[in-house]
Amino acid sequence: MLPGVIGVMMATEAIKYIIGIGEPLIGRLVIYDALGMKYHELKVPRDKNCPICGENPVITKLYDDYDAAAENPETYAPAAD
Ligand SMILES: [Zn+2]
Repeated sequence: MLPGVIGVMMATEAIKYIIGIGEPLIGRLVIYDALGMKYHELKVPRDKNCPICGENPVITKLYDDYDAAAENPETYAPAAD
């Protein structure tokens, strides 16, 4: 049951983000306490040194070209399956 609860929350966030409605979960982390039936929210500050979304990103492409990634792995991030 727990994966279903979290999966629905994640899918809802994706739909909100795609169609541009609501308050997306950006810069925040929700912790679900199933045993206490409580939600907690933490603020997550942006990491300016993040290799993907930081001020000087070094990972700029999805891992969709294995040959190119093998030649230059630091510029590729694994694609989601
Ligand atoms: Zn980032």
